[in-house]
Amino acid sequence: MDKYVAKTAKTPSLVLMFGGTFDPIHHGHLRCALELTQVLPVKKVHLVPCQLPAHRSQPSATAEQRLEMLNLAIAAEPLLYGDDRELLRAGPSWSVDTLASLRQDYGEQQPLAMLLGWDAFLGLPSWSRSERLLELAHIIVLARPGQMHEPAEEVLQLLDKHELQAGESLNASPAGRILRLSLPSSFEVSATYIRRLLANKQSARYLLPEQVLDFIHQQQLYQSKH
Ligand code: ATP
Repeated sequence: MDKYVAKTAKTPSLVLMFGGTFDPIHHGHLRCALELTQVLPVKKVHLVPCQLPAHRSQPSATAEQRLEMLNLAIAAEPLLYGDDRELLRAGPSWSVDTLASLRQDYGEQQPLAMLLGWDAFLGLPSWSRSERLLELAHIIVLARPGQMHEPAEEVLQLLDKHELQAGESLNASPAGRILRLSLPSSFEVSATYIRRLLANKQSARYLLPEQVLDFIHQQQLYQSKH
């Protein structure tokens, strides 16, 4: 993984799309989103909860509850935005459709990047219309502690063709490059681990915002194992 990249451009111009199940949102997601605004010239991060997860089993909380937890978590951060576009769309949540819709909102010239953890990036070749993703956006791949499995040949080829070279910037083009990043305070936490703690009646404090934890208790979420 590349080292932390210093923020260089004067005018923030990059738009980020950070999709996920967010079941629930946690400090792993939040630190990544926030730190990207500190190391790259980002003007907005769209956090997009998915309606029907295309690559995994159904989440435990409803779409509305997941969006509400996300909005509680980011309320004080002006560059982070809870985006409900996948919840308003019928059918499965394909990232390619979400990127196409953001591209339509921002126009052809807007530098746009999709954010992925390394674990999610490894599965990219099997995604719906995966070859279209890099036509619509850049991809920023974040190191995820504890999830550093080796890439398959197809993923290596993608990196070979698209990885950002020294001296290049994501802002120089609207789409098509891959940037690997290791953020300073990335840490090993997952929503699965949080759900497991809660189902076992153990504390999940300090892994996610207090407001989100309060909401989980109020709504009696994640009380049983799935
Ligand atoms: P689950 O355990 O339910 O699979 P998760 O914690 O992996 O959930 P998701 O909502 O599935 O969270 O993840 C959305 C995106 O955030 C994915 O690209 C994932 O790789 C990334 N991500 C999640 N947790 C971290 C973390 N601690 N550090 C870096 N990236 C993360």
